[in-house]
Amino acid sequence: MAMLNGLSGKDSDEDLRDGMSAKYMIESGNGLTYNDFIILPGFIDFTPKEVDLNCQLTKKIWLNTPLVSSPMDTVTESDMAIALSLCGGIGIIHHNCSPEYQADEVQKAKKYKHGFIRDPIVLGPTNTVLDVLEIKAKHNFCGIPITENGLLGGKLVGMVTSRDIDFLDTNNHKATTLEKVMTKLEDLVTAGSDVTLKEANTILEKSKKGKLPIVCPDGSLIALIARTDLKKAKSYPTASKDQNKQLIVGAAIGTREHDKERLALLVQAGVDVIVLDSSQGNSTYQVDMIKYIKTTYPDIEVIAGNVVTREQAKNLIQAGADGLRVGMGSGSICITQEVMAVGRPQATAVYKVSEYAKRFGVPVIADGGISSTGAIIKALALGASTVMMGSMLAGTSEAPGEYFYVDGVRLKKYRGMGSIEAMSRKDAVGSAMSRYFHTEGDQLKVAQGVSGSIVDKGSVLTYVPYLITGIKHGCQDIGARSLKQLSKMMSLEQLRFELRSHSAQQEGSVHSLFSYEKRLY
Ligand code: GDP
Ligand code: GDP
Ligand code: 5GP
Repeated sequence: MAMLNGLSGKDSDEDLRDGMSAKYMIESGNGLTYNDFIILPGFIDFTPKEVDLNCQLTKKIWLNTPLVSSPMDTVTESDMAIALSLCGGIGIIHHNCSPEYQADEVQKAKKYKHGFIRDPIVLGPTNTVLDVLEIKAKHNFCGIPITENGLLGGKLVGMVTSRDIDFLDTNNHKATTLEKVMTKLEDLVTAGSDVTLKEANTILEKSKKGKLPIVCPDGSLIALIARTDLKKAKSYPTASKDQNKQLIVGAAIGTREHDKERLALLVQAGVDVIVLDSSQGNSTYQVDMIKYIKTTYPDIEVIAGNVVTREQAKNLIQAGADGLRVGMGSGSICITQEVMAVGRPQATAVYKVSEYAKRFGVPVIADGGISSTGAIIKALALGASTVMMGSMLAGTSEAPGEYFYVDGVRLKKYRGMGSIEAMSRKDAVGSAMSRYFHTEGDQLKVAQGVSGSIVDKGSVLTYVPYLITGIKHGCQDIGARSLKQLSKMMSLEQLRFELRSHSAQQEGSVHSLFSYEKRLY
């Protein structure tokens, strides 16, 4: 009869409400991971394209995509930060390097202008045609600006391209200096640093040139634009930008006294947000550092952590944190729970901390254990505003490190920042060690992470759009038009969850096949 009642429209909401609320699910059982539960579908009356992924990283910083890259030395330097920011997320530059190196990476991201080659290879007038050919063999381009001192930042004196050298006598390559073959400054078409991509396009079109050197008023070379790039230029309308239209970028630091010097350099380089990088953030060191940053640099946003309980969160929020990073022991490379017996299953940690932090308007980053778009959606559905990823982004061409082959498979290194290998890095200056509370000179280090490798994933610029589309499809299935609505549905207990038995988890992944190929996009 209930069904007949239903068909005649007399079912109460209570009759129809299946599954359970997030609160009930988390409060009534053991600690849960993303795999332990599933979200029940809702009603669809919109397309995935319409889903709005606008979200809050910190009290003041909003993003168009809820994706953050982890401050790990095999994940985030400037290339990753730039690519992720172009896609609407943000990268956090690691600090397992000298302060100067880290500040330089921040500056590269802040100075990035789409379409501009910021670090073109430059030669001097006394270099030879052979030098150009060697560059061509290695990098596959040969449009080379020539400066007085052969360096970027030197005074531009000419330009060499393939047309200048293609028909030269091959016997003379070593003897022919570039000053003899280059197009001299007086014949060059150049542009100033304030040129827009549109203007650059017009200049290259009119002059029929392939390269446009960008120079300062004093004639020094600061960048290069290539016509090939403009032709394939994609625009990134959802890129994360500050009020000066520069990409936004974050950087991690520790909580020691010498980190204050590092911080000063990062602020000078234009960093937008600082992440206090600690595996257990509830400490006097971190509370003091938050207060120091908020009083010394009131415009800099501070993300504190890591925390997994409300009590930990309370101290950091009271100290003035603008965002919290949540996760302890859930990372793919992490052995903290095994070695230290401390941590928390990630789904429970994310729900508990987000629910508490929301009362103070402090957004939460779900950090670690993200292994699929499904896990991203689950983290957001439990109250996180954004997710931080290591393994998902390692192995992309923008991750630091060179590719190598094992048994014909193209791989990149990925390692925990608490692995012996990362803690032993020569230029680490104690940064990876400080995250795990080791002091320089400690004889015996206790590793909290492992070192491994990860399969080539191609460029972030194609991979992240796949992740974004996946998140949008998930929201559509749930019936949430935006991440704001998703969060509201969860609080109002409209979003329904169900636990998955071990066999339900097996059923939910590929099974019963002899073999299969898993291509995700
Ligand atoms: P070229 O005419 O032989 O220099 O080559 P193209 O202009 O056809 O392509 C050069 C490609 O390499 C463009 O996509 C550039 O953005 C890229 N590139 C990256 N770094 C450099 C650099 O230092 N110099 C030049 N010329 N191109 C670079
Ligand atoms: P391509 O990339 O090989 O087609 O070369 P370009 O179109 O950049 O340059 C063609 C010729 O014009 C070469 O001899 C250049 O040295 C010369 N040239 C003259 N003015 C300019 C200039 O403003 N920029 C560049 N790149 N080349 C110039
Ligand atoms: P993933 O996305 O690979 O699952 O996890 C990345 C996260 O793991 C990082 O953002 C960081 O919080 C954490 N992490 C990175 N290195 C280590 C490590 O060596 N040990 C531990 N316990 N956690 C790590």
